[in-house]
Amino acid sequence: MSISIQNLTKVYGQQKALDNVSLEINKGEIVGLLGPNGAGKSTMMKIITCFIPPTEGVVRVCGEDIFDNPMGVRSKIGYLPEHNPLYLDMYVREFLQFIAGVHKLGKNSKERTEMMIEMTGLTKEVNKKIGALSKGYRQRVGIAQAMIHDPEVLILDEPTSGLDPNQLVEIRDLIKNAGK
Ligand code: ADP
Ligand code: MG
Repeated sequence: MSISIQNLTKVYGQQKALDNVSLEINKGEIVGLLGPNGAGKSTMMKIITCFIPPTEGVVRVCGEDIFDNPMGVRSKIGYLPEHNPLYLDMYVREFLQFIAGVHKLGKNSKERTEMMIEMTGLTKEVNKKIGALSKGYRQRVGIAQAMIHDPEVLILDEPTSGLDPNQLVEIRDLIKNAGK
């Protein structure tokens, strides 16, 4: 089981964002969370990735509990947050190498960086600053940084929002291939 969620509840002040949610996701599955704005999708992803704690419930990622071993959970996850935070003044390759360093990939940093650049179709854009990229290409950088450490679980929050129809198809293909 890649992700196991039991009776998850999250309350922000007066606002109940998640109410007793349970679900299981198996290895190899590609699952989409559907719901209107404010349904609690991002909240659930932030809890799974250990960015915020739940009010109640049990969450395990690849068997590791988010409270008992948050660092272990984080190391198994690649995460593209909703607003895709990037350093706009960094060059594409420089940024990905920086993220590889954060994951302590050591001598594999260069190889993984080049692999992600190719896989996400960033080769032609690699010498630009991230701030000079279109939204679709920034999204690719966001997906590349999420996958650079070859995580067992990939969590993407609205990876196709704001993209044009062509970019939408390309990013969906990218996600499908990432699961292989
Ligand atoms: P979704 O991603 O499905 O649009 P969210 O998880 O972002 O939904 O939000 C779920 C609900 O929780 C919304 O009503 C939102 O306003 C509320 N919420 C999210 N984050 C906070 C927060 N930090 N403080 C208070 N309320 C929040
Ligand atoms: Mg959201």
